[in-house]
Amino acid sequence: MNRSPTAFLKEEMTDLRDKNLEWIIRYLEDGSKPHSVVDGKKVLMLNTNNYLGLATHPKVVQASIDAIKKYGAGAGAVPVIAGSFDLTMEFQRKFAKFKEVEASLLCQTGFAVNSGLIPMLVGKPDIVVSDELNHGSIIDGVRLSGANRIIYKHCDVGDLERQLKEAEKSKPRRICIITDGVFSMDGDMAPLDEITKVGKEFGAMIFVDDCHGEGVLGNGRGIVAHFNLQGKVHVEGGSMSKGFGVFGGTVAGSKDLIEFCANKSRTYLLSTAHPPGIVAANTASIEVVESEPEHVQRLWDNTNYFKKEVQNLGYNTGNSQTPIIPLIIGDPGKAQELARLLFEEENIYGTPIVFPMVARELSRIRVQMNALLTKEDLNMALAAVEKVGKKLNII
Ligand SMILES: *Cc1c(COP(=O)(O)O)cnc(C)c1O
Repeated sequence: MNRSPTAFLKEEMTDLRDKNLEWIIRYLEDGSKPHSVVDGKKVLMLNTNNYLGLATHPKVVQASIDAIKKYGAGAGAVPVIAGSFDLTMEFQRKFAKFKEVEASLLCQTGFAVNSGLIPMLVGKPDIVVSDELNHGSIIDGVRLSGANRIIYKHCDVGDLERQLKEAEKSKPRRICIITDGVFSMDGDMAPLDEITKVGKEFGAMIFVDDCHGEGVLGNGRGIVAHFNLQGKVHVEGGSMSKGFGVFGGTVAGSKDLIEFCANKSRTYLLSTAHPPGIVAANTASIEVVESEPEHVQRLWDNTNYFKKEVQNLGYNTGNSQTPIIPLIIGDPGKAQELARLLFEEENIYGTPIVFPMVARELSRIRVQMNALLTKEDLNMALAAVEKVGKKLNII
């Protein structure tokens, strides 16, 4: 037998490189904040999900240090085997209150929420009706569930209704509508108010994954608060790793939902609990969002200013309604060239997004706003995207 067991590794990577689709990982030599050091170079970062700058907030950092000193570095086991920290209980209580729901659960990651919980909420006799641009972790969760999946056109409630009518014909046991709250590549928002209305007519379970809405919409409380839909969304999945600047996944909803999730979700049952330093930092982050509203305010001031100015320069920002501001270029090579020149010549770190994250002809640089960016930073970034954009004949 002369089969090579691992030759495919190099072959597939060579293929990715040839197609300009390889991910290059750069290394941060300082914190995740607007002025950081990346690959030995001082840069302005325009590409983090740390929207409010809480990853380096003194209260958040201190809470982590204090908890590590008292409880140590690791959790020791999965929560159901050797217990969850009292710190975790405190986080879950605070987070539920913050979200205006009965209960919440701190899970490993946002990804783990989707891959662990979705397959328990629905199965073979059920139908999932899913937005065509939903996050990959939702797609994986639905695949694992074995449920029938129906895709509706992006944010199109008319199409959703048509698909629900179609779904009803096969008399499924359950119907679940799943959508991102804020779509990560375009920065547009799901019409959740209309979705909940249509969903109610069909007795559908509504699942929103609000990873990019938290810390951003509804005074930081997310898309449910933004639309005043408390009590109308059955499952709210989220992440502490983005706007809240720390780490972890969350589920928020009824007490029944949380008990179900803690007993059934395979990622919750089979993966180790968060270290105490992370749990305490997560709690502090929520407290900061509640007690210091200026961070969310600054994030939106920066978003409104930058978006308007970059549009004035002639950039296409698509349907952005949030601090995610795509500069849609089209050609993938050109998007990558724009990012490269911004990094190498202008000391600006913005990430090119190409296929398969977005359609080939919608290649872009995804800019993300941050509460810690100053007017001076924004003007410097605008001057740079103007200069390089003109050089590449993009604008
Ligand atoms: C980022 C993201 C996730 C994954 O969250 P993590 O906590 O980073 O694992 C899941 N869903 C959506 C919509 C996301 O944007």
